[in-house]
Amino acid sequence: MKRTGPIFRENAKTIHEPERLDLVVRGGRVVTPEGILDAEIGIVRGKIVRLAPKVSDATESELDAGGRYVLPGIIDAHVHFNEPGRAEWEGLATGSAALAAGGGTMFFDMPLNSEPPVLNAAALREKRRLAEEKSCTDFALWGGLTPGNLDQLAGLRDAGAIGLKAFMCNSGIASFANVDAKSLREGMKRATKLGLPVAVHAEDDALAAKLTAELRAKGRTDARAWLDSRPVEAELAAIRLALELAAETGCALHVVHVSSPEGIALIAEARNQRVDVSAETCPHYLLLNEKDVERLGPLAKCAPPLRDEKRRKALWADLRAGDIQTVGSDHSPSLPEMKDSANMFAVWGGIAGVQHGFELLFSACEKSVARDLPVLAAVLARNVARRFRIDDRKGQIATGRDADFSLVEFGKARTIHADDLWTRHRISAYAGERSRARVTHTYLRGKPVYAEGRLTNLPQPGQFLAPHR
Ligand SMILES: [Zn+2]
Repeated sequence: MKRTGPIFRENAKTIHEPERLDLVVRGGRVVTPEGILDAEIGIVRGKIVRLAPKVSDATESELDAGGRYVLPGIIDAHVHFNEPGRAEWEGLATGSAALAAGGGTMFFDMPLNSEPPVLNAAALREKRRLAEEKSCTDFALWGGLTPGNLDQLAGLRDAGAIGLKAFMCNSGIASFANVDAKSLREGMKRATKLGLPVAVHAEDDALAAKLTAELRAKGRTDARAWLDSRPVEAELAAIRLALELAAETGCALHVVHVSSPEGIALIAEARNQRVDVSAETCPHYLLLNEKDVERLGPLAKCAPPLRDEKRRKALWADLRAGDIQTVGSDHSPSLPEMKDSANMFAVWGGIAGVQHGFELLFSACEKSVARDLPVLAAVLARNVARRFRIDDRKGQIATGRDADFSLVEFGKARTIHADDLWTRHRISAYAGERSRARVTHTYLRGKPVYAEGRLTNLPQPGQFLAPHR
């Protein structure tokens, strides 16, 4: 980074010069959903004010991107940082640091597994206060939708919730009850009036419980048993119900962590029939398959579980076809000892992947950057911002938006080591994976938060965003 000379800066003080920029990013290949541009980016007070082949305004400083790709800051709409209450599992400081190291500039924290869960405005405000103090990226907060808090939804909206999250099966957390069809319908009706989207974890509770009981009765606790306890049919049954209720109530539905192309097909069909629904999948469904569950055991346990190789490949096709609207990490870590058992039903379910999951998606596109990086710019940033109504500020490298971006380079494959992790516990399903992509810098509102393996410019408190109306 080079700075202009002192004489020029003195001049700028005496002559009021509104055209003077704080930062110009040169030499980058800017990735937009429409394509990759050789362009320079001019930034003032954290906002992008120029995007052009050449930016010649006077500037305070310059960043040489050195031919790297400039990607929009990832907006990870699905993390569990677990603070307050279970910060020993992750925490807002460590979780946001790991996100930034992987190219992320904003997260939406789920209403669980923090304690208390975010089921009312007071809990949301408390989490907001903590994140404003600790997060190094910007953030939004999900509120919970459970049978017991239907009269709290308006309060959650007024406190700035980005949306409401419901579980259609047991959440694994005693303080966060799952909905049944009746309470989900009622919740959706109220959410529609409040103008909030409803996100669902879609797995059929009765089917998963029945299969789990049958397998455990046979003494099965192995990886294959875990996979068999939550088949694709369990996901499809729940997605069908959620789609029916969304069609009936007019609710904006967001189906999180869809694991199967069959699930995506149901959602695509509903979208064709003008149901207001979007689909999220996660890096792990695009990068790993059920063989990895057998290989890695508890590290690769998640729900819905990883699927077979054919389905993994089909999800990439759906992504490229535009049938998957967003990709979120579903980063859901726990204490290491909660992953330490051969009994796959007893260990904590959740893949910790907020730091390397997205980078590995970039790596997977190394040979098809022109086609695929724009797709990733859409599903990791623009589409998320649009769906959750923060697109006035976030989601694109475009004038008027926050200057949130990362620099990504491709090169020799390197192995991801547990030591590279910024998360509280150095546990990741991706340790040992080989990546050809590397996030070298992450900028939030025009300032570096991560550069070349270090967190920079701390403290830079993250800002809370509520959806625009
Ligand atoms: Zn989750």
